[in-house]
Amino acid sequence: MLNKIISHALPYFPQKFIWQFSKTYIAGESIQDAIDASKALNQKKTMVTIDILGEFIENMYQARINRDEYLDLITTVEQTDVIGNYSLKPTMFGLLLDKETCYAHIRDLVIKAAYHGNFIRIDMEDSPCVDDSIEIFRRLKKEFPKNVGLVLQAYLKRTRSDLENMLDLRSDDSKLNFRLCKGIYMESPSIAYTNYHEINIHYLEDLEFMFRNKVYPAIATHDKSLIQGALTLIDKYNVPKSGYEFQMLYGVTPKQCQALVRKGHSVRVYVPFGQHWFGYSTRRLKENPAMMSHILKAMLGKG
Ligand SMILES: Cc1cc2nc3c(=O)[nH]c(=O)nc-3n(C[C@H](O)[C@H](O)[C@H](O)COP(=O)(O)OP(=O)(O)OC[C@H]3O[C@@H](n4cnc5c(N)ncnc54)[C@H](O)[C@@H]3O)c2cc1C
Repeated sequence: MLNKIISHALPYFPQKFIWQFSKTYIAGESIQDAIDASKALNQKKTMVTIDILGEFIENMYQARINRDEYLDLITTVEQTDVIGNYSLKPTMFGLLLDKETCYAHIRDLVIKAAYHGNFIRIDMEDSPCVDDSIEIFRRLKKEFPKNVGLVLQAYLKRTRSDLENMLDLRSDDSKLNFRLCKGIYMESPSIAYTNYHEINIHYLEDLEFMFRNKVYPAIATHDKSLIQGALTLIDKYNVPKSGYEFQMLYGVTPKQCQALVRKGHSVRVYVPFGQHWFGYSTRRLKENPAMMSHILKAMLGKG
C-alpha cells in the first residue's frame, strides 16, 4: 500500500534516485550503452530489439529529431555484429499530431532497416493510437513484406477481430509477424479486459489463432502460466522452433529468459535506452511498486 502511494508521487522524486531503480530496466543513455547491453545479451544467446525511449511529443520538430536519432541508431548498430532489430513507438514520430508525416518518418526507418535486411517492430500504445498504428503497419507491410511487424494487446476486446482483418496481408513468402503482449496502458473496461484471468484466457486464444493461421508470434510475456500455455500450444500445433520467438523486457525475469534459451527456444530481449528514461521508468514502477523499496534504500544511502 505504502509502495503504491509512493509510486504515484514519483514525478516529485529526484531523478538520481529513480535511476537507482531504472538502471535495472534501461540499458543507459547512449547508443553505445545500448550496443554494449545488446552484445552482453547476445553472448547469452538472446537476440535483442532496441528501442529509443520517448513518446507523446509536442510538435513535429521533435518528431523529425526522433526520426534522425533512429536513423543514427540503425546506421551505428548495423556497423556492429549485434544480433537484433528495432522497436519504435509511433507517437514519437507524431502519430497524434500529423499522421501522414508520422507515416513518412516511420517509412524512412523501415527503408533503412530493409536496406540492411533488418526489421522494425511498431509498438502498440494506448487505445486512441490503435487504428492509426494498424493503418501505418498495413501500408508498410504491403511495401516491405519482410521488414515490419506490429504489436497486439491481448487485453483489448478488439484484438481478435484486428487479427482476423489483417490476415489478408499474408503472402506466401512473408508471414505476418505480431508481438503479442498483455497490454500496459490503463484502459476502460468497456474496451478492455481488466481481470488477470480474462486477459490470460484471451492471450492464449489469440496466440492459438496465430498458430492456426501461420502467423509468426513474438510471445512477449514474463507470466509463467502464459509461457507454459504457449509451450503447450507449440506442442499441439507442432510449431518448429523457427515459427515463433519469446520476448522479455530488459532486466525482467532474466532467469526465466535463460531457462527458455537452454531449452533451445529463440528469445529476444527488448532493450530500451535514451535520455527520456524517466517516463518509461515510472510506468515500470507503477506496474511493480515493490521496487520502490530499492529507491527508498538508495535515498537513505543504503542502495
Ligand atoms: C518484449 C515486450 C514488449 C512489450 N511491448 C509492449 C507494447 O508495445 N505495448 C504494450 O501495451 N505493452 C507492451 N509490453 C508490456 C506488456 O503489455 C505487459 O504490460 C508486461 O509485459 C507485463 O505483463 P506480463 O505478460 O509479463 O505478465 P504479468 O502478469 O504482468 O507479470 C508476470 C510476472 O513477471 C514479472 N514482471 C512483469 N513485469 C515486470 C516488471 N516491470 N518488473 C519486474 N517484474 C515484472 C513479475 O514477476 C510478474 O509477476 C511489452 C512486454 C514485453 C515483454
